[in-house]
Amino acid sequence: MEKDIRICIIGGGPAGLSAGMYLEQKGYTNYTILERLDRVGGKCWSPTYNGRRYEMGAIMGVDSYYAVHDAEVFGHTDHDGPKLNRNYKNSKGDVIEPFEPKKNILKIPRLLKMKKQIKKLGEILETKYVGYDVNGHRGVAEGRYEGCSQRNAKREPVSGVNPNLKDLALPFNEFCKKNGVELIQDVWIGPFTSFGYGYFDEIPAAYVLKYLDFQTTMNFVKVNLWTWQEGTQSIWEGVQNHLKNPARLNCNISKVERKDGKVYVTVNGEVEEYDKIIVTAPLYIPNKRDDGQVGMVDYFDAREDEKELFSKIDYERYDVLACETKPEDHPEISYYVFENMTPQTLGHLMVYYRRWKDTKDQVITTYALRKHKNSKEIPYEECKKMVLDDLKTMHNPASNVVNEWSVYYFPHVFSEDYAAGWYDKVEAMQGKYDTYYAGEVMSFGDMDETAEYSKELIDRFF
Ligand SMILES: Cc1cc2nc3c(=O)[nH]c(=O)nc-3n(C[C@H](O)[C@H](O)[C@H](O)COP(=O)(O)OP(=O)(O)OC[C@H]3O[C@@H](n4cnc5c(N)ncnc54)[C@H](O)[C@@H]3O)c2cc1C
Repeated sequence: MEKDIRICIIGGGPAGLSAGMYLEQKGYTNYTILERLDRVGGKCWSPTYNGRRYEMGAIMGVDSYYAVHDAEVFGHTDHDGPKLNRNYKNSKGDVIEPFEPKKNILKIPRLLKMKKQIKKLGEILETKYVGYDVNGHRGVAEGRYEGCSQRNAKREPVSGVNPNLKDLALPFNEFCKKNGVELIQDVWIGPFTSFGYGYFDEIPAAYVLKYLDFQTTMNFVKVNLWTWQEGTQSIWEGVQNHLKNPARLNCNISKVERKDGKVYVTVNGEVEEYDKIIVTAPLYIPNKRDDGQVGMVDYFDAREDEKELFSKIDYERYDVLACETKPEDHPEISYYVFENMTPQTLGHLMVYYRRWKDTKDQVITTYALRKHKNSKEIPYEECKKMVLDDLKTMHNPASNVVNEWSVYYFPHVFSEDYAAGWYDKVEAMQGKYDTYYAGEVMSFGDMDETAEYSKELIDRFF
């Protein structure tokens, strides 16, 4: 491709900004990033309270966040934030130690069995499921793998045939059952369900294991995690500040038309002409949202295949509250509430996060899910009330809510569409209408997987 082609990128979150960064590093100079909000970072949103930044969105990373590290180097930032730590409570608010055998004599047999199963999973992922952990989902439904290895910073392209990979389309609980490792869900659920990624009976194993590959999960278990003093948003502000063409903010895109090999984008009422377009913003949103976000099919001249495929995408209703507490009610540490991570306890507080250990004048953030594939969505206000009641039960009542949002979170497809080759059909459309699809749904809803997908997309097509 000519290095001066005009490329429009929709969205100034991790996927869009890293697409700009990788294009620039390959010598493309004529890219334009259009962001709808008055800030960059997307779901990496770190507002300020009492002089410090807290997290409304992404919080942490691990050593294998190579694309995020590329962004840190490019934007001159570093993972220099407060160390994470957590404890556990039951739904009555008592502190418990679910993984401490000495304190749970009755649980010893189950814990020992679980340990064995964790080892077994580690072994089968390395042997039976070779290729499970490459970025993206190309070929998986057909029993192939194709993508960049995430094993080391080089991220070399790898590919191969492995029919066992078809199992990754199964809901994660069925995948575990098939492989005799049901108990490992007790460990995987913490960084999965409580982090808003849904329930194991509805989410294909591919998403779970590509995000929580064996190594990453062990980093969670050992709390060997990265955070950022100025919040995850600062990573992307760093990129924004060093791009030759920083993202343009407050862009209202009302129309995109693709004809005669050109892409016409109407931004704040003016038509702009491009040669190619990369969409990192939501492709499809099934319901009307209060924050005004819509999917690309609503403002593009969407073709039948785009409409057909993207209408299969669903997302999680994940709610975050930032709460003040009285100093005497401030939690001593962050807490997981495992009993609230089931579809039966939908809408309840699953985890709450105390970011700063040295002070009690900061907010804590709470996290809850309010939609399960097989049940009715709990209305936002009802869920908020449940979470605030739960904080009282936890002995950490909130005195005030200072910030809140219901996130368009973790777009994904369900097992049936995954198994029917949804990803290969979308991948086959890349470039077809001078349009490329990136962002969370193409890989997974964390900042590294999305940024890494942008890197691969640029490597593959530009
Ligand atoms: C509560 C929470 C906790 C999380 N925790 C972690 C974590 O600990 N670690 C981790 O790695 N990840 C975490 N994540 C996930 C991570 O933040 C996302 O996966 C990542 O930000 C996705 O990047 P993206 O660019 O694909 O999408 P987004 O971050 O959603 O960015 C998309 C951008 O597109 C813009 N946009 C949307 N529509 C339009 C339009 N029509 N025109 C122009 N612009 C548009 C949006 O405003 C946004 O800026 C968390 C997210 C949340 C909400």
